[in-house]
Amino acid sequence: MFSGIVQGVGFRPFIYRQAIQNKLGGFVRNRPDGVLVEVEGATWDIDSFLSGVRRDLPPLADITNISALDIETTHDKVFRIIPSDARGDGDVHIAPDVAVCADCLKEFFNPLDRRYQYPFINCTNCGPRLTIIKSIPYDRINTSMSCFPLCPQCQSEYENPVDRRFHAEPNACPVCGPRIQILDQEGNPVDTTDPIAAAVNKLKDGKVLAIKGLGGFHLCVDAANNEAVERLRSRKFREEKPLAIMISNLETVKLIGQLNSEEEKLLTSLQRPIVLIKKKITNIISRQVAPGVPHFGVMLPYTPLHYLLLENNFAVLVMTSANQIDEPICISNREAVTRLKGIADYFLVHNRNILVRCDDSIVMVAGGKQQILRRSRGFVPRPIALAESFPAVLALGPQLKATQCILKDNFAFLSPHIGDLETPQARDFFSESITLMKKITESDPAVIACDAHPAYYSTQVAEALAPVKVIRVQHHHAHIVSCMAENRISGEVIGLAMDGTGYGLDGNAWGGEFLVANETGFRRLGHLKYFVLPGGQKAIQEPWRIAASLLKSAYGNAWPEIAARLDIIPSGFDSKLLDKIIENKINSPLTSGLGRLFDGVAAIMGLRRKVSFEGQAAMELEGCINETSGTTFPFEIKRDAEGCFILDMSGAIRSIVDEILKGTSKNEISISFHMTVARSFAAMAKEISAINGIKRVALSGGCFQNRILLENSVAELENAGFTVYCHKHVPANDGGIALGQAVIAGSIMKGS
Ligand code: ZN
Ligand code: ZN
Ligand code: FE
Repeated sequence: MFSGIVQGVGFRPFIYRQAIQNKLGGFVRNRPDGVLVEVEGATWDIDSFLSGVRRDLPPLADITNISALDIETTHDKVFRIIPSDARGDGDVHIAPDVAVCADCLKEFFNPLDRRYQYPFINCTNCGPRLTIIKSIPYDRINTSMSCFPLCPQCQSEYENPVDRRFHAEPNACPVCGPRIQILDQEGNPVDTTDPIAAAVNKLKDGKVLAIKGLGGFHLCVDAANNEAVERLRSRKFREEKPLAIMISNLETVKLIGQLNSEEEKLLTSLQRPIVLIKKKITNIISRQVAPGVPHFGVMLPYTPLHYLLLENNFAVLVMTSANQIDEPICISNREAVTRLKGIADYFLVHNRNILVRCDDSIVMVAGGKQQILRRSRGFVPRPIALAESFPAVLALGPQLKATQCILKDNFAFLSPHIGDLETPQARDFFSESITLMKKITESDPAVIACDAHPAYYSTQVAEALAPVKVIRVQHHHAHIVSCMAENRISGEVIGLAMDGTGYGLDGNAWGGEFLVANETGFRRLGHLKYFVLPGGQKAIQEPWRIAASLLKSAYGNAWPEIAARLDIIPSGFDSKLLDKIIENKINSPLTSGLGRLFDGVAAIMGLRRKVSFEGQAAMELEGCINETSGTTFPFEIKRDAEGCFILDMSGAIRSIVDEILKGTSKNEISISFHMTVARSFAAMAKEISAINGIKRVALSGGCFQNRILLENSVAELENAGFTVYCHKHVPANDGGIALGQAVIAGSIMKGS
């Protein structure tokens, strides 16, 4: 019996071929708990069969377990594939959706092939999986392809064990499969015999198109057309946040960005994620695509339709998730037409339904290693293998960048990216996703984990699910255990949880935390010195307020004069009033958030007073850097009354101000600041380690998406003799929180 990702990935024909090659009799059959194989033959032939299976696995298959058993021989000489049976517990993992394969592309571009330019070409090695699933087992009848009866030719491919399309559930051709259509703003079909050519012409005219993809719609414009990009931005109310782009080929990618071999590998991988690559100065695309930030988010085409649109037509297309602000990505044609009203001019749609929302995944390379920033299409629902088994747990994640996680045995299944739970649509998607996760894992956990924040929507959902057992997990503890879990380590570590803000146990907004943590608990041994966040949420949108607060804590009452010299306070705003707000903490919480410190430093340096998306100021601060080293600014480590280590950056703030007034370049100041923070991490870890002897450090939290900070922190900590664990398969940001919550709750249940 084989379990893992073994269905819908060409596993049975593969087994069939291996059995025939090794002269074995027997059968192969799909079961809900895996693929059952019975073989009969000489011992050495069976051994060679097994090693062949392990060696030559189809690209999408992933065996997590093989259990073998000797049985009576029946002198079976033939090998057969028998239809599925419905017994057994679910142990089959659903495969993720992947990019069209090279074999299919060859047919796709061959004018003599019957699937020439057919946008739904696929085979057992490629195409949609998770996003077309209605229920399991993964059979055509349980997918959104069930309404397309196979034509005789497709049927014979489907039934032929040696065909590449044997049991390719989404198999289709122009005769029997889904079709493309183009709709106008109102959702009425545009009269054309060639919808693709029509779409290309509209794009060339600068129109905004909504295009149905694999896991949802994209909004698409010609990236070279400045006006079109600006039109899309203003209609989507997305002033500056970078837009993802799809580039026709690797050569063109190299014209707009610096590419290393690891990034090249990720770009061309089966998953085809968006890869963040360092910008080059270019006039190929509009400057409005990603203003101010150091990276482009780039992907290569991954569906046959993308190839048709780009090939010989465009070098670069903007391809951003089709949604209104804070709403989830659109999946159905009708939903797109209503929800994208006023944004899209035309809709390029088809009649293969998307049943599971799945945004594009985002990855970057730091220190030569992959770091996933959003884990969705191409990766979900492939599980993360854990070091040990856990009781079933459902974790509901945080409020922003929400994902969910189900623990089953020694696997953690993370949901697709859900996003910020701020709108009714996002909250519906959240519920949809719970149902999906239970379905694909075939489990209904009696233990629910959630954030400690009482006002989070996910926390409220957890409480409403009672009488199940609810375990609340502190945000930064979850970050650290998420990192530990994917690195398969347990026991105590020094955890550096660095993010914007999360609910702290003392009522303040934490986010620059030095914890000693294990899978069941943590102690807060240190943190970034608290500073006032003047106006709370307002300060997050207007970092100049944070700058004022930082200056006040560095200069005391002399701060307004410094702020005036640096021109930090917008005209018409009274610094005396702000001083009062900070002094008396009027609507102004205390925070230790490192992300907020970065925002404030960016504002002190004059990079921006206001931001239009979370993390923008910090990204621009990173974007100033084009050196690899600078100097270190001073910082102090003190201990508070309880013995907690307090990291005080006032010295660094004063040095930054001196450097600005001296006229030092932003580049130099920024790299020095990043290096100072990294060095302060190592200094704090040393203090903590001196108490308890712990030599392992886990890094987590959204701040470690900052490549320069991450690379320098790892280097400083390793130089100080620590073993450093980072995220790789799960986001360091809040997208990874659910995994940490789940493992903490699972560990607590195991211990009780
Ligand atoms: Zn294929
Ligand atoms: Zn057909
Ligand atoms: Fe966080």
